Amino acid sequence: MKKYRVLVGIIIAVSIGIIGTSDFAKNLYKASNLISKGIIVDDKKEQNESKKEVEKDILICIDPGHQEKGDSNSEPVAPGSYVKKARVSSGATGVATKKPEYILNLEASTVLKHILEDKGYKVIMTRESHDVNISNSERAIFANNNKADMVVRVHADSLNDSGKTGASILIPAKESKYTTAIYEDSKNCANLISDKMKEAGIKVNGIFERGDLTGFNWSQVPVVLVEMGFLSNYTEDQMMSNPEYQRKLMQAISNGLDEYFTNK
Ligand SMILES: [Zn+2]
Repeated sequence: MKKYRVLVGIIIAVSIGIIGTSDFAKNLYKASNLISKGIIVDDKKEQNESKKEVEKDILICIDPGHQEKGDSNSEPVAPGSYVKKARVSSGATGVATKKPEYILNLEASTVLKHILEDKGYKVIMTRESHDVNISNSERAIFANNNKADMVVRVHADSLNDSGKTGASILIPAKESKYTTAIYEDSKNCANLISDKMKEAGIKVNGIFERGDLTGFNWSQVPVVLVEMGFLSNYTEDQMMSNPEYQRKLMQAISNGLDEYFTNK
């Protein structure tokens, strides 16, 4: 009996010796130690993070310009102003595509929304359908109430001159008393978006200050309006409806926003 106990004892002692120094035991110890320190992250979590960049605490409000039916009832062009303009219009129409501007604007805005969300921005939209009635001041107030860090208004131009092409960026006017507080930030952002568009090979006509736009005058948060190109030009109208060109345009806008918020 005593002999048997001694034998069992030896077997146990040898076993502990082997297991105790084995790689398995070492790795088990190492892993549990690192997990408890939060150094090892499980694979699932890492996969999710690679899909989406780390969420930023930045809110972008996208305003797809116009809507299906304009509303010719008037509203003040600025808080307390006696000057009034139509609440909202239905916008221009493409000469080649016959596509109304409000449809193109929402198409492009949706592309921009997805790009920004993939980059980790929080995004709100003034509209996600065509059959709405939201005036230009109401769109600005929506962004104000949500404390957006930047508003991007998406539009397309139209002129009687069918030869005119290129994108333009509109910002509140320096001399406008309603937008003094948001002028600098709007201008900086517009400059960076313009740079990124040019880098991507997009024709940019310039940055234009406007004191007459209701959507600017009511805004308490920085705002830029991108006219993507001319619906009145046959080629540019078609380009703007091309998903690849739309993506290039919206990618450039998002790159400008990246630069703006990095330097802020
Ligand atoms: Zn427009």
